[in-house]
Amino acid sequence: MKILVINAGSSSLKYQLIDMETTTALAKGNCDRIGLDGVFKHKTDRADIKKEVPMKTHADAIKTVIGALTDPEIGCISDLSEIKAIGHRIVSGGDIFNQSVLVTEEVIEGIDKCCELAPLHNPAHLIGIRACIEVMGDVPQVVVFDTAFHSTMPPKAYMYALPYKYYEQYKVRRYGAHGTSHKYVSLRAAAMLGKRPEELKIVTCHLGNGSSISAVDRGVCIDTSMGFTPLAGLMMGTRCGDIDPAVVTYLMEKENIPPKEFNRIMNKESGILAISGVSSDFRDIDNAIEEGNPRAKIALDMFEYQVTKFIGAYAAAMGGLDAIVFTAGVGENNPDLRVRCCAPLKFMGVEMDEEKNRVRGEERIVSSENSKIKVLVVPTNEELMIAADTEAIVSAL
Ligand code: AMP
Repeated sequence: MKILVINAGSSSLKYQLIDMETTTALAKGNCDRIGLDGVFKHKTDRADIKKEVPMKTHADAIKTVIGALTDPEIGCISDLSEIKAIGHRIVSGGDIFNQSVLVTEEVIEGIDKCCELAPLHNPAHLIGIRACIEVMGDVPQVVVFDTAFHSTMPPKAYMYALPYKYYEQYKVRRYGAHGTSHKYVSLRAAAMLGKRPEELKIVTCHLGNGSSISAVDRGVCIDTSMGFTPLAGLMMGTRCGDIDPAVVTYLMEKENIPPKEFNRIMNKESGILAISGVSSDFRDIDNAIEEGNPRAKIALDMFEYQVTKFIGAYAAAMGGLDAIVFTAGVGENNPDLRVRCCAPLKFMGVEMDEEKNRVRGEERIVSSENSKIKVLVVPTNEELMIAADTEAIVSAL
């Protein structure tokens, strides 16, 4: 079955056409600057193009994608009818959706209700879904929620100790993010270890520009580091992560900063960028440390210390640990960082194999033969996970 995976943003639309028989992407690309001028990127085995294509709306973008996929020169299918289903990435399903579902009018209303929880993303996803209905007609569409994998968290993990009315009135609680990635890498890790997910306690570390860590207990997420929004948990490229909440009101009062502006500071001007004073990109941080920049060293030390603490905390929360998984830009590509995050966990039985760990962006077990707790690198593949959920739902129709 061939499935078109769509990740619609407010002025962009990323896509992959995935063949589920081979679980490979036949084509991938994106439409940028929708509503402005329009830039189209498209890549297959035979083509790698970037060109300006006017795209006034998301429907224009979908038409451009379909045109490229079916083009005799740069395409990979001969007819639109080869696309059996569309899978959409949706950032927030709030507490309404705990699994992937087929798109219906009722589902569209549900996603709309979650817009407050993801104001930058959910409205754009809805535009993407409507554009697909307009252009692709009856092709079944499935929505896959970033929050769904975390919906199994118990109240003790997702509640905040604030007045209860805020939970009741505004649904203020932990939802988590990156769920599709955590689900994918935990399933792959189980397969790589030759076990069923139900047999394993896993900590999944999605470390990229945005970072989160999850505790996956026998296939079920029981806790995750991101919260009501993706600002919580680990410090990140430009996000502050967990801080004393009193600091927020203290600084807002001291410097007379309005809430929206302080939110921006915490999201865009904090984290690795703020501490290092150099960059939010971990490669720049490594270079700055080599040049002797002490603040870059503090930033990296802080990040690694926090990763180690979360792994330890989640091992305790699960009452044991079988495997640690590293994924995303930093987790997949930074062997030294993996070693430093795991070194303090030696007391628990974590032992890296430095030779095997010299790997970037490849699936591999990187702990030693004797390591009680296995450490794995698993490149994330959210698109494949979305396609797999979409196939399962559409096949059952
Ligand atoms: P992501 O948000 O998952 O794309 O991750 C972005 C982060 O991954 C950036 O901070 C990069 O420095 C880091 N990263 C990406 N590729 C590499 C690489 N080949 N080597 C080291 N770091 C990388």
